[in-house]
Amino acid sequence: MTDIVLVLNAGSSSIKFSMFAVAERGPALRLRYHGEVDGIGSDPRFVVADADGKRVVDQPATLRCRSARDHDAVLSVLHAWIAGHSDDLRIVALGHRVVHGGERFAAPVVVDGAILAELDKLVPLAPLHQPHNLAAIRAVSSIAPQIPQVACFDTAFHRTQSPVAQLYALPRELSATGIKRYGFHGLSYEYIASVLPGIVGDGASARVVAAHLGNGCSMCAMRDGKSVATTMGFTAVEGLPMGTRCGAIDPGVILYLLTERGMSVDDVTDVLYHRSGLFGVSGISNDMRKLLKNDSPHAAEAIDLFVYRIGRELGSLAAALGGLDVLVFTAGIGEHAAPVRARVCENAGWLGVRLDREANIGGGPRISTDDSPVSVWVIPTNEELMIAQHTLACMHAEPARG
Ligand code: ADP
Repeated sequence: MTDIVLVLNAGSSSIKFSMFAVAERGPALRLRYHGEVDGIGSDPRFVVADADGKRVVDQPATLRCRSARDHDAVLSVLHAWIAGHSDDLRIVALGHRVVHGGERFAAPVVVDGAILAELDKLVPLAPLHQPHNLAAIRAVSSIAPQIPQVACFDTAFHRTQSPVAQLYALPRELSATGIKRYGFHGLSYEYIASVLPGIVGDGASARVVAAHLGNGCSMCAMRDGKSVATTMGFTAVEGLPMGTRCGAIDPGVILYLLTERGMSVDDVTDVLYHRSGLFGVSGISNDMRKLLKNDSPHAAEAIDLFVYRIGRELGSLAAALGGLDVLVFTAGIGEHAAPVRARVCENAGWLGVRLDREANIGGGPRISTDDSPVSVWVIPTNEELMIAQHTLACMHAEPARG
């Protein structure tokens, strides 16, 4: 029998999962399987790969229904696969990525009815993600109520920021109701902060900026492994331009679209979240790989804007830190798009960044020259492992159930 920590990342149309085997001794967790059910609500497929990336399942997921209870149906498929698995897997705990922990949750928490009710209150702050995260928790509670569940929050890592860094210059009575900068991608930055000392050595406690450049993009200034400032704010649409999200925009544009262009709130939401960013500017794709291969001037301008905005935010975060010692690139674009990294580093020469071109093309991990005042690194993120570690730690901290 192998004890497993199951990690779930539940979105609107997909549920991604990872299974980590718990070592008999010691805290080590080893990835065993990962996969997803995507196409929920249309033609769902159930895909599982082993730790080497070899597909062991790829089949239609037969869902019992396709509406509000889709998460139940999807998780039943996964539960049945685990139950029937020849390796005798036993889920000892389940960790969820939950986008919003609000002001209260600064650390992962074992979920019970009262906490779920608290998390429900945060749905209006993250209406596109939080309901799906919570639906997965409820689905597991009904399918396998004996399995303890831990919620790990994308916002939690940023709760160390000073009150000023979290404040919008809005009337105090609005700020007091929770309209403030929360920041996201916290599990990714926490993972980077946790591995940085082993990679960078003493520099890990210095002034660090990490750039999480995936479909969602943000940057985080860290000192002593703690978040000091970040580019995302009240929602995950602020800050850098992303795959399809616009990033920072004059709020006046939104008012103009609503009042002068007669757009509905849904239309504007669609523009800001799904039709902007790399996709909107290029008119071609949200996929950096496609844009880098495309000769069109609009693809080039989308990349120019992306690089320009990263440079502007880097200067701003360096100002929040009072300087810069370490720069880290992570997530899909950060880990794989050498031309984007090169351009960001060249523009950051004024901050003391000296790029080692060959190391950058080779993917690092260190991509700055030996004499560069700022050391620059490519470090793959691992949010799932971070969630699994938190989940296990919460289990050890909790008194035994039952
Ligand atoms: P998510 O935020 O959904 O987890 P990822 O971290 O996987 O996304 O990042 C997706 C982005 O990474 C896409 O823009 C994709 O084009 C880009 N990407 C992945 N591999 C490469 C590559 N080899 N070269 C350039 N961009 C890449």
